[in-house]
Amino acid sequence: MKWVLVLHGGAGGITRADLTAEQDQAYRAALALAAGAGGAILERGGTAVAAVETAICVLEDDPLFNAGRGAVFTADGRNELDAAIMDGATLNAGAVAGITRTRNPISLARTVMERSPHVMLIGERAEDFAVTQGLERVAPEYFFTERRWTALAAHLKREGLPMPARLVHGIQDPRARLAHDEGKHGTVGAVARDGDGNIAAGTSTGGITGKQWGRVGDSPIIGAGTYASNAACAVSATGAGEYFIRLSVARTIGAMVEMTGLPLQAAVDTVVQGQLTTLGGHGGVIALTADGGYAWSFNTTGMYRAAIASDRPLTVAIYKDEP
Ligand code: ASP
Repeated sequence: MKWVLVLHGGAGGITRADLTAEQDQAYRAALALAAGAGGAILERGGTAVAAVETAICVLEDDPLFNAGRGAVFTADGRNELDAAIMDGATLNAGAVAGITRTRNPISLARTVMERSPHVMLIGERAEDFAVTQGLERVAPEYFFTERRWTALAAHLKREGLPMPARLVHGIQDPRARLAHDEGKHGTVGAVARDGDGNIAAGTSTGGITGKQWGRVGDSPIIGAGTYASNAACAVSATGAGEYFIRLSVARTIGAMVEMTGLPLQAAVDTVVQGQLTTLGGHGGVIALTADGGYAWSFNTTGMYRAAIASDRPLTVAIYKDEP
């Protein structure tokens, strides 16, 4: 085995009854495309960090997922994006939160990691940095989809909150119409092991529909939604961020592997099926160790996920009963 790449596209209430055949196929094709793009980087001898960034960019650009284009809306009708990436070889990390105008937040996170002395940048000033680094900038409506706007309206109605004025016009991307249960999931993440035996993790999200007051979830928080160390493992999480932050989910899994020698599958299950479930949080993780072993665990009915390795064909899965 030379390399491995594992992806997720969010966890939630996803059963066979929830998805049409067309939606099922669209998600599987999107995950396969992202896995292929990241896998090609690794096959050419690229780094785990580069593969994670590339695979996540493909998912950010796809309106099916709650990351980049197609992200969910805040209560005041904006798309505020969060992302993080971590290099398990060096423990270097980069993260951004509250991004509204940088096309690929995961690339900005990587740029923070590699070209700034900091780990985490937020909001407008983070986008000022993006401009100085030549990252692609888009108008806020680039992220807008009708599908997510409708989900916001439904959420605010349930909560008895007022609907904000519409700031921008929605795109009519034919793929956006295939997005399933637009309000709740679709965060994306990747973990990879490259030919040099180094691992990396990355996560990108729009957060949760109707989030308020500059809310930031677990995805860009190193140790909560994203973590990587060659000595431990690489982890990317998805689910109710507030719970993942409280439990430092990603680093807790890493610490178990690193310090107790627990097998990876046991570690992810202990945290997700045990601690997270006990606390009342929903979601899941993908994880991978430097020897190339990988695992996932989720306490929801489904999680969009895929795995590919130099010596193993692509597998894509959505529902709980799939291997
Ligand atoms: N974890 C993300 C957040 O709380 C959302 C998700 O994964 O669905 O921002």
